[in-house]
Amino acid sequence: MGKCPICKIVKLLAGIGALNWGLVALFNVNLVTTLLGDMTTPAKIVYILVGISGLMTLVTFIKQCPCGCTK
Ligand SMILES: [Zn+2]
Repeated sequence: MGKCPICKIVKLLAGIGALNWGLVALFNVNLVTTLLGDMTTPAKIVYILVGISGLMTLVTFIKQCPCGCTK
């Protein structure tokens, strides 16, 4: 992944998602549900964005960044 704004946002969201999972396992604290409620529309939007970011992270693991910037 490169240094373009899209890559940074993707990394940020994927990081938040990973961190949240870690917190759930370690401390039983889910930041997303704590801040936005359990499976409310805003919480779902965050999960969907994190999911898309995770997918993009996996894609860029084997391919170039979807936005076209170099690695
Ligand atoms: Zn990029």
